[in-house]
Amino acid sequence: MHKTINCGELRSSHIGETVTLAGWVHRRRDHGGVVFIDLRDRSGLVQVVFNPDLPEETMKIVANLRMEWVLQVTGAVQQRPEGQDNPKMPTGEIEVIASGLTVLNPSRALPFMISKEDEQQVEENVRLKYRYLDLRRERMSRNMILRHRVIKFMRDYLDKHGFIEIETPMLFKTTPEGARDYLVPSRVYPGQFYALPQSPQQLKQLLMVAGMERYFQIARCFRDEDQRGDRQPEFTQLDLEMSFVHRDDVLDLVEDLFTKMLPAVTPHKKQLASPWPRLTHAEALDRYGSDKPDLRFGMELHNVGDIFAKSEFMVFKDTLEKGGVIKCIAAPGCAEYTRKQLDGLTDLAREFGAKGLVTLGLTAEGSKGSGAKFITPEEIEALSQQTGAGQGDLILFVADELAAANRVLGTLRLHFRDALNLADRDLMAFAWVIDFPMFEWNEEEQRWDAAHHMFTMPQLENLDKFETDPASILSDAYDMVCNGYEMASGSIRIHRSDIQSRVFDLLGIKEEEAQRKFGHLLEAFEYGAPPHGGMAPGIDRLVMLLANEPNIREVIAFPKNSGARDVMADAPSPADEKQLKELHIKLDLKD
Ligand code: ASP
Repeated sequence: MHKTINCGELRSSHIGETVTLAGWVHRRRDHGGVVFIDLRDRSGLVQVVFNPDLPEETMKIVANLRMEWVLQVTGAVQQRPEGQDNPKMPTGEIEVIASGLTVLNPSRALPFMISKEDEQQVEENVRLKYRYLDLRRERMSRNMILRHRVIKFMRDYLDKHGFIEIETPMLFKTTPEGARDYLVPSRVYPGQFYALPQSPQQLKQLLMVAGMERYFQIARCFRDEDQRGDRQPEFTQLDLEMSFVHRDDVLDLVEDLFTKMLPAVTPHKKQLASPWPRLTHAEALDRYGSDKPDLRFGMELHNVGDIFAKSEFMVFKDTLEKGGVIKCIAAPGCAEYTRKQLDGLTDLAREFGAKGLVTLGLTAEGSKGSGAKFITPEEIEALSQQTGAGQGDLILFVADELAAANRVLGTLRLHFRDALNLADRDLMAFAWVIDFPMFEWNEEEQRWDAAHHMFTMPQLENLDKFETDPASILSDAYDMVCNGYEMASGSIRIHRSDIQSRVFDLLGIKEEEAQRKFGHLLEAFEYGAPPHGGMAPGIDRLVMLLANEPNIREVIAFPKNSGARDVMADAPSPADEKQLKELHIKLDLKD
């Protein structure tokens, strides 16, 4: 080893020892003669002192040292002189008095400072281009270590609970999760393609048919989606599957895993509730306007149609007559919002798809806002009763179709969460959402889509509704949600080929297509497939929340940028003519 101990591990118990360190120059201070260097390795920083009584040769090198040079330093650990302790540094009681120095490698001038991460804003593409430097920064290094701990905890926990980790192929066939496939052309079979799995879904089900009973994998998934929001073309899931289980067996296991993981990896994070609340999909939409509700704060949605059943207020009256709903939320302490602020909220609601927004501020002087003229004191009294809103609060109404009202108010609710700082970021509000609809009507393409995926088991008592009322069929799918994010989806699977065929039928997947794409799976189900189910918590998002990071790129070592490019390696990039030829590919770049 080039070193005898790590920089960040030195403490006063090492005083008097001679150590050899190796690391990077993090900071350098020249005090006219004496030079101080903060030397950094992954474990942290330590102060190294170069006194002018060192050989001239050495002091010459010291005078030339620059940021991020790689050094090997030998020296004695000593107590820092009186008054020079640095309580902010774990090694702040000691320093190393250098007696020997070797430059292991110099560094070019840096595109950004490693040591000034708090002061220097660096554009993300620059950080990503020099990711290997960005990862040297404390925040990123901390994130990588946290990610490692999370995955390690999962592995150990699942091993203890009888799971085995099995790798499944990347070069496979389409495994649809609702996105486009990434295709890999075959050189050996001209004109044929592998698909990168959107998840190991089919393979883990085949492992259940194979009798593995409890499988997991830290699995990479590939989905070619438009780069909206916080997405990556490839991401990581804890993929797991279990045989001979009912829904609650899967939920209980995953809940226990996460509940035990939290204190082990991030003891400062607290769970909102244990056991985790369970909401049906319908209830989540009704109360929070979202199928991934943030439960860290209240501000629930209320359906107040009954209160306005006799209202002459046209907006309300019309909506109710057309079969729509009137729903509202109450924003605490916002009654005195100015006209401009209220207009801003209305614009926001319109952006979310609302036709309009009716506001009612309950102030000491009476009611304010666009609803004030039309809403009677009796109605206000009834509203207070139902919603708990009182003086000082601002009630926001959306009168629309149910789905639109839920969506708009659900999004406004999150707007207030951020604007009013209503949610504690160290609180983890895990919850289960269950009883999802099995199918969703795709208006654009005039057909049914699988709400989770096509291997999900419909609730058996709903089987007779396939022909009559597909929209009302519930499935045995479930989501884990936390703080407004979907953290995992899963389901009990179809293990009977007759039910699988009915699902394919309804989704408009023809027998021939089903055979071509999933024939192997359907055939496997005919050889004694056990009942099975599983789920797949996303690891990137989990670590993002645990690390208090704003997006998943901050917790992935080498992410693509928000435009799906790897700006460090510059990928994707054109292929050589020769490679294309071997793959029998001719480019047609006209459009
Ligand atoms: N394969 C699913 C997904 O990626 C998870 C599951 O059903 O286990 O969302």
